Amino acid sequence: MNASGSYDVVVIGGGVTGAGVARDLSLRGLSVLLLEKGDWGAGTSGASSWMIHGGPRYLEFDWETTRLSTQDAGYIVTIARNLVYRVLFLIPVLPHDKNNIERMETAMEVYDRFQPLKKAHPHRRLTREEALRAEPGLTPEMVGAVTMEEWGVDPHRLVFANVQDAVAHGARALNHTRVTALIRDAGKVIGARYRTADGVESEARARVIVNASGPWSPETAAMADVKVELRPAKGIHIVYPHRISNFSISAESIDGRDLLMVAHGGFTLVGTTDDDFYGDLDSVDVIEDEVDYLVQGIERVFPSIRQYRAVRTTAGVRPTLFKWRRYEDELSRRYEVIDHSEQGADGFISIAGGKLSMYRLMAEETSDAVCRKLGHQARCETSVRPLPGNESDPMPAAELAVRCGIPTLAAMKLQTRHGSDAEKVMDDGGTSRLLCRCEPVTEAELIFATRHEQVRTLADAFRRVGIAAGPCAGAACVLRAAEVIGRELDWSASQRFDAAREFVRGAWLGRAPVLGQAGWAEEEMAQGAMRGLMEAGDVTR
Ligand SMILES: Cc1cc2nc3c(=O)[nH]c(=O)nc-3n(C[C@H](O)[C@H](O)[C@H](O)COP(=O)(O)OP(=O)(O)OC[C@H]3O[C@@H](n4cnc5c(N)ncnc54)[C@H](O)[C@@H]3O)c2cc1C
Repeated sequence: MNASGSYDVVVIGGGVTGAGVARDLSLRGLSVLLLEKGDWGAGTSGASSWMIHGGPRYLEFDWETTRLSTQDAGYIVTIARNLVYRVLFLIPVLPHDKNNIERMETAMEVYDRFQPLKKAHPHRRLTREEALRAEPGLTPEMVGAVTMEEWGVDPHRLVFANVQDAVAHGARALNHTRVTALIRDAGKVIGARYRTADGVESEARARVIVNASGPWSPETAAMADVKVELRPAKGIHIVYPHRISNFSISAESIDGRDLLMVAHGGFTLVGTTDDDFYGDLDSVDVIEDEVDYLVQGIERVFPSIRQYRAVRTTAGVRPTLFKWRRYEDELSRRYEVIDHSEQGADGFISIAGGKLSMYRLMAEETSDAVCRKLGHQARCETSVRPLPGNESDPMPAAELAVRCGIPTLAAMKLQTRHGSDAEKVMDDGGTSRLLCRCEPVTEAELIFATRHEQVRTLADAFRRVGIAAGPCAGAACVLRAAEVIGRELDWSASQRFDAAREFVRGAWLGRAPVLGQAGWAEEEMAQGAMRGLMEAGDVTR
């Protein structure tokens, strides 16, 4: 597809920030082109802890970030009801923790003042016995616990919902399309050159270009000979394909950092690390030491953690604003909207720093800056306009299940992704056959995602509908999914095998750091079976 032409605004980067900016500007009536070199949300946004939170941690040194993110979280949970769910934490306190139970409770009392902003409940203090009753897996050594409520979100769908709404309001949005250069004329940035997945080079002219490329924003800024200064910080997670605990649990790492074991819907995320990153942003590997560090910290409060089988890891790089000297953890999560006109690049604006939990506010301030430049008067509506699928209440999941002939769990999952549009997804063609039994995902939903949600690879399908996200990590569904997408996109048989091989190879990089002895054996069997089917060489090479 070639989207050459003229726009009011070109937005570079389809993470949560760029998608939010594209939506905001489109709702204000401006013509927008949004370009993403990979897939929607496949950068830092998808590698996050999947939380819309206020960050009680920042209360120690940055109240304003806590206030802003709780306030914006309140808007996000209202406009994206189908995508969010409550996540209740137990914070156990052990005898030698850096905070005793009184200090911990005081911190939560302060956080409680912010909680109503994001429609969350105040904390409770639990005795050791109460905490053990609620969460029998906790160590009996704890002296007590406090509770804390946050929100979980599927970041991939949150990003895509913003893209979808931007498109519904006139934007063009291209994934797998890399900006390769900025077009400049006498101190102004007037457009962008880009290359689509099939290698076609194009250019688009615009009155303003927005750099929303997260940790890549210094790279993008350099295309206009200007600077964005970040202190990028790498963070990893371990993913368990099931619930391990009744509640989410917080723990202290060996170096006194806060770690989280987050009980999301049907899976668990353990994270995260926070380390200065100097490497290649397009190849962020997880090392086994990072996995050991996380497991060690969680084991201290939840001793049985090593008995559970992890399915993969995730890694991302935070686009943190630059600051010299502070430890990575203490760096502010503030953001900055930078107008580069004074650096000789008029018409070029960067948005840097921030958090997923306040993406909407970041997008609003960036869009305000764009509108000021263009002399455009329209006001921001994103705090009140529901995202797609949230305009009305969804029907009960059991009713949807009967209407569509699918299990209730499949109907519930469908609704978490599409809200009140779920039935429309099933009506678009394709059968109600379950392609991915672990999750479960229907053939009809994958067809819909390929036709209407820009799925072009199996990894896109993983992000859009959760294919291969469950315990089998795709062993049972990747080839079937390649068939379905291949039929829609007219892939030959060998292209279908190539797509499956590419997915397995990519997924393997994230899986290798967490495969224990039993995991390696299972992996070899699963890959052997798949190799047999594909009549191909070793897919892990
Ligand atoms: C481990 C970890 C856990 C986190 N957990 C949370 C959390 O739970 N809650 C929270 O609020 N925040 C969390 N954060 C922070 C949050 O994830 C980020 O602040 C946010 O997702 C950044 O979004 P973004 O859109 O700015 O960047 P990204 O999501 O990285 O998006 C930038 C996009 O730009 C694209 N791009 C780059 N160059 C080009 C180019 N030349 N052409 C086209 N496209 C380009 C990239 O492919 C990328 O998709 C976490 C961060 C990490 C690393």
